[in-house]
Amino acid sequence: MGLTRRAFLLSAGALGSAGVTGTALSGPEAEVNVKIWFTEQASDHVAWNRLRDHVQRAFDPTGKLVAVEFGGTVETSSENAYELVTGGEWPKKLAQGTVGGEAKPADDVNLLVTARSMYEFPTGAGIPHVASVGGAEALANLPPVEDCPDVVGWSDPAYALQVLLHECGHALGLDHEDGYMEPAGDELVVSPMVSGYPWESDEVKEQQFDTQQGTCGCEFVDPEGRDPRLMLTFSECERERIREYDGGYAPW
Ligand SMILES: [Zn+2]
Repeated sequence: MGLTRRAFLLSAGALGSAGVTGTALSGPEAEVNVKIWFTEQASDHVAWNRLRDHVQRAFDPTGKLVAVEFGGTVETSSENAYELVTGGEWPKKLAQGTVGGEAKPADDVNLLVTARSMYEFPTGAGIPHVASVGGAEALANLPPVEDCPDVVGWSDPAYALQVLLHECGHALGLDHEDGYMEPAGDELVVSPMVSGYPWESDEVKEQQFDTQQGTCGCEFVDPEGRDPRLMLTFSECERERIREYDGGYAPW
């Protein structure tokens, strides 16, 4: 891992010439390397610095040094983020080094953003080191991070960001059970690993969210008419899991 990381960091300097710069935190001290890539259609909507700031804020409370970096534009056969991961196209591109340009896969998280609407399900997928999510247009409408509380009511941009964090979590080995929820008045506060699942159909929940309790001990309840309130940083339990993340094998 060490050698791979150094080799990657040596090459990272070249990324500036690929178009987008401004990565604030990168260096041998980075413990988690998150690289965000875009399909060609999604790249029409990128507000990179703003998105990077939001993702960085979500990871900050973990206490790990997380480098959030721009990957590049990736040619794909579709905008279906779920299919691109589960069908193997995106993992294969990373493993074969055919992502294009000089960009190299990150050691830890490679998240591909697509232009697919967040109202088409499934919205994304994440497996170790590799993830994808739709919602590029919604993400471009995120407010600047300093104008955006870290727990907010439902909006398309906030939901897209939360699902993006959800898939990053899967790429780092987190499960839905690591999530957190808590009723608050007529709202139900949900962390990234829970996200919209409580409002899904019984069928979807049975298949993908079949749990009564989080690993942190919190009760997983039904919304019972409550509206979602979205945490845009990782919950305490999720942070704990991210702190435990120690790399693992990446096939590149
Ligand atoms: Zn999930």
